[in-house]
Amino acid sequence: MSLRVEHDIFMVRQRGREVAAAIGLEYQDQIRIVTALSEVARQLLARAGGADVTFRAGPDPGGLGQILRIDLVASGAVALSERGRGYAAAVERLVDRLETVREDRSTVFRMSRRLPASAPVLNRERLTDLRARLADKLPGTPLEELGLQNEQLVTALDEVRSQRDELAVLNEELRETNHGVMALYSQLSEELEATNQGVVALYAELDEKSAQLRAASEAKSRFLANVSHELRAPVTAIIGLGRLLTDSSSEPLTGEQARQVGLIRSSASDLLSLVNELLDLAKAESGRLEVSWADVDLKVVFGQLRGTLRALATRPEVELVVEEPPQPATIRSDEVLLAQVLRNLLHNGLKFTERGEVRMRAERSGDQWVLSVTDTGPGIPAELQGRIFEEFYQVPGRSAAGTGLGLPYAKRLVTLLGGTLDLTSEPGRGSTFVVSLPAAGG
Ligand code: ADP
Repeated sequence: MSLRVEHDIFMVRQRGREVAAAIGLEYQDQIRIVTALSEVARQLLARAGGADVTFRAGPDPGGLGQILRIDLVASGAVALSERGRGYAAAVERLVDRLETVREDRSTVFRMSRRLPASAPVLNRERLTDLRARLADKLPGTPLEELGLQNEQLVTALDEVRSQRDELAVLNEELRETNHGVMALYSQLSEELEATNQGVVALYAELDEKSAQLRAASEAKSRFLANVSHELRAPVTAIIGLGRLLTDSSSEPLTGEQARQVGLIRSSASDLLSLVNELLDLAKAESGRLEVSWADVDLKVVFGQLRGTLRALATRPEVELVVEEPPQPATIRSDEVLLAQVLRNLLHNGLKFTERGEVRMRAERSGDQWVLSVTDTGPGIPAELQGRIFEEFYQVPGRSAAGTGLGLPYAKRLVTLLGGTLDLTSEPGRGSTFVVSLPAAGG
């Protein structure tokens, strides 16, 4: 079509809409493209005295799928006015693509709009058919076109209003959601604060309880130390008096009296060893036990223990074996305390083992000395292996006499010496107590 006079703008617009509708553009898109078209047409009429308008429909080489392409060819080099460029931006939004191609003697304004995927395929027959049908259509008057344009404007305005209403609803929803989120947030903050306060209170309570526990433990140690100290003198006196009574220089006792005095003396001895053990433990626990560090020769310690404990190994079925420690066997430790620990373990071994052997050996492992006492005694069930290190605990059903204070005391001493005391045992097969000590001292 050619665009020469103002009236042509209506014609071009009308044709544009008919073509757009015929090839299957949606209603809104029809309005968009013809609005763009009449806008550019108006500009070209004013600035270039008109243009030739071509409608093309078919697949887009640029990959948009099926498109409607409208070329407006104006002669000479035409540029849209400042205001026109402003329009161009608006027009660009109405179409999918707007290009300006400068040719030899003319300028082409080219706009393209994509057809929906549902639009029928534009093959040769269809295009021929469409062309024929459009040719049959009589052009309408400008007035009709104006009427139509008004109608479209009203529809567009309507749509804008309904979109604005929708936006208002959405905004309202958003505001409410925000409110909800804020409420949730402040509720969570409050809960968090309350939880924090609870935790703080709990910690304070815990601190208080630990302080109480410490105080109780100190009181217990003090009590044990005082009581055992106070008991030692009278018990020693009873033993002394008993000895006096049975002395050959005293008046002779009847057989029954002698037996009873003997019972008193042995009970008093048991009591004295309990009191002494309690005193030792209380001392170790209260931290009043001083470690005197020195270079200790394990060979010497082992030799002494071999000598003193032989007297305790009274069962002929049990052999006491104290191996020679590998040389050089020096350790930085406290000889008296270390000997006390090992004596305790050996003593237990001999006490509880009915046949087999009790063996002590020393082994150097890196910067540690590992001293172990192994016996072939009854062993200790796994669930009780922790408990026997508790004060006064004794495995039920074992007849051997004792106080239940030996192992807790030994453990305390080993800790003071900077080492650890561990146990592996299998009921029925025996036990191994292992003392690991740093060779260079704790
Ligand atoms: P005590 O020997 O005076 O009873 P301990 O603290 O030395 O107290 O030992 C606690 C308990 O551990 C013992 O009563 C005994 O039941 C068990 N026990 C200790 N050493 C052995 C061992 N070598 N074999 C089997 N049981 C043992």
